[in-house]
Amino acid sequence: MTHRLHEPTIRMYYRRSMSMPSSSTGSFSESPLKPRRFRDHLRASPLSRFVRTVGFAPLEKDDFLVAHTERYVRDFFAGREPLASSNWFPWNARFADSVRFTNGSLVAAVLGALEQPSQIALSPTSGFHHARPESGHGYCTFSGQVIAALRAYREHGAVGAWVDLDGHFGDSIEASRRFVPELDAALPFNINPAGRHGDYLRDLSAGLARLEAALLEGKVQYVGFAHGADSHEWDDLGNQVSTAEWLEASRLVYGMIARCSASLGRPVPLVLALFGGYRKDDLSSVLELHVADLAVALSTLCGHDLAYEPRVTRPRGRGWAAELEPNAPRAVDAGAAPNGEGPGEPQAGPDDDGPGEATYVDENGDVWVIWEGTPPPPEEVVPAPGFPDGHIEPELLLLAEETDDEELRAVLMSLLRRPRDARRTPRDPN
Ligand SMILES: [Zn+2]
Repeated sequence: MTHRLHEPTIRMYYRRSMSMPSSSTGSFSESPLKPRRFRDHLRASPLSRFVRTVGFAPLEKDDFLVAHTERYVRDFFAGREPLASSNWFPWNARFADSVRFTNGSLVAAVLGALEQPSQIALSPTSGFHHARPESGHGYCTFSGQVIAALRAYREHGAVGAWVDLDGHFGDSIEASRRFVPELDAALPFNINPAGRHGDYLRDLSAGLARLEAALLEGKVQYVGFAHGADSHEWDDLGNQVSTAEWLEASRLVYGMIARCSASLGRPVPLVLALFGGYRKDDLSSVLELHVADLAVALSTLCGHDLAYEPRVTRPRGRGWAAELEPNAPRAVDAGAAPNGEGPGEPQAGPDDDGPGEATYVDENGDVWVIWEGTPPPPEEVVPAPGFPDGHIEPELLLLAEETDDEELRAVLMSLLRRPRDARRTPRDPN
């Protein structure tokens, strides 16, 4: 890039207290470990010299009240159920403290980008975009984006936009609009593309075109971008895009920022976060995607010429996509090979644990491919946080089968399917 307007380095708002030790999450989601895993992965990559780590202050409990009810904030930090584990994580004091740091990181990154627009700000965080004003939800505790947007609006008069390329719709922003009406003015854009493959990229392009116009007209002052890795088709909870398409999405976003910055003659303030990404068999595939996204940012906006090929492995078992997608029996390839590693759909192999695949035909005549059998034997089912003991199987199974919400169904199925040990002990990919 000859006309770079952003600084050559990215500033990462990282503190160790953002992460939990791996032995203590006790949950399907490894989000509480992600900041540190990402930091370590980044450090070992060729990009490390382009990222500078800075500190920040954690949020105080009262800081959450701007986007959440007093009851939820009070009960969460006190560890009082049911709200303490309404985020679907088993509560502990250290985890509760860590969310003060993850939310603090995002707030500091947004304010930092506004105060120094040429400096791209990175908050290596997730766990925000499904939270509700009155509770947690879907592995998310507090609505960090909402809190940060309100701070930016009140302290700087800045209007923001989020481009949320996590595989799941970022509903915390929409769920917060009735709770804090000022959010409509502070954060009018919450771009979440729909569809898969080409449709996904087209929908993203359309959203970015609207955002570009708003930036050029001065209606939006900063952009937050989270490229969640669970939009990748091999993610445990994802099925949208191949590796090449995932990286194309990065190029579309950063290309729009570069164009806008050039047109405006000044850098558009940009804040990055991580959001989702779930690979029980290989977390490094998730981290590789996040690092590759950063390489696109550095190449497009910061004047570097980095070609970073993410190493995304094929899942050992089948991804959730096949399970959730009717008419996708094993013999049918669900898509082209994402990056030249052979057939697009992983197959059960000798390394796979568990009983393997099965198919069944439901009452509508749809063929379902199931990994590790369905429904699971009752003895393999353990209660999930927030669900009363002994009621998990019928209630969760019923909910999973009846809901139209694919995301909820994927999460519920993951809880039902995971072997007892795997669910209790997060797996260390190393
Ligand atoms: Zn997600």
